[in-house]
Amino acid sequence: MPRPIADLSRLCMHTMTTKPWPLAQAVREYAKAGIPAITVWRRHIEPYGPEEAARILHESGLEVVSLCRGGFFPAETAEGRRIALDKNRRVLDEAAAIGAPVVVLVCGAVPGMPLDEARQQILDGIGSLLPYAESLGVKLSIEPLHPMYAGDRSAVNTLRQANDLVDALGSPWVGVTVDVYHVWWDPELERQIVRAGSSIFSFHVCDWRTPTRDLLNDRGLMGEGCIPIPRIRGWVEAAGFRSCTEVEIFSTEHWTRNQTAFVTAIKEAYLRFC
Ligand code: ZN
Repeated sequence: MPRPIADLSRLCMHTMTTKPWPLAQAVREYAKAGIPAITVWRRHIEPYGPEEAARILHESGLEVVSLCRGGFFPAETAEGRRIALDKNRRVLDEAAAIGAPVVVLVCGAVPGMPLDEARQQILDGIGSLLPYAESLGVKLSIEPLHPMYAGDRSAVNTLRQANDLVDALGSPWVGVTVDVYHVWWDPELERQIVRAGSSIFSFHVCDWRTPTRDLLNDRGLMGEGCIPIPRIRGWVEAAGFRSCTEVEIFSTEHWTRNQTAFVTAIKEAYLRFC
């Protein structure tokens, strides 16, 4: 077990956790709550545009940890794959504009396409994107998603598969995101975290509710579910990870709460259950 978390100095809030708040309100509330860092979901940039969003973020003094998300590389046609790459270049432009050092990738899947074929297209897609990412100084981080999303959201479902992609690409500009929600069940998790080592670019937390009532939007606040978060944090830190712990909770239930009270509950849960 790692040492307990003593303070909020490495807490990062993901804007989708407080989805109802527009970006300007989110940064104000996070700063007021003493949260030092932020990860931005693209939908929270959209109403402002990248330049205005960059100004808001810069003035807030919050550290921008990452931009979510790029990816969705596989497509049935070459034209579809080309469009996906163009979209990803715009995502990288946005990351550079707001000063996000990392873009998190939800890699994509096409219903009916064999998963190994989709992974090959993902490998090719990230490989094509890398020179542009490097030219902007933005890293790409492959986030494996829980296998329940293999049908249409990501053909990368284990940390081993993500590590395989990183090894095949062989660039310091590509790494992995460890999100406890997606990987906690994996018997190889500790071994694959050791293997990932310094290529772990980000660490996401929430909890797995039992029963889970919705596949997308029923993530729990830390402590509400069954994920051994401190144990996984211990492995990630033992692998050398020193950046922020990002709270990323997609939850219709929590989005309908008073969001300021929710942020207070998140701080308590972070100190107690992470
Ligand atoms: Zn995540």
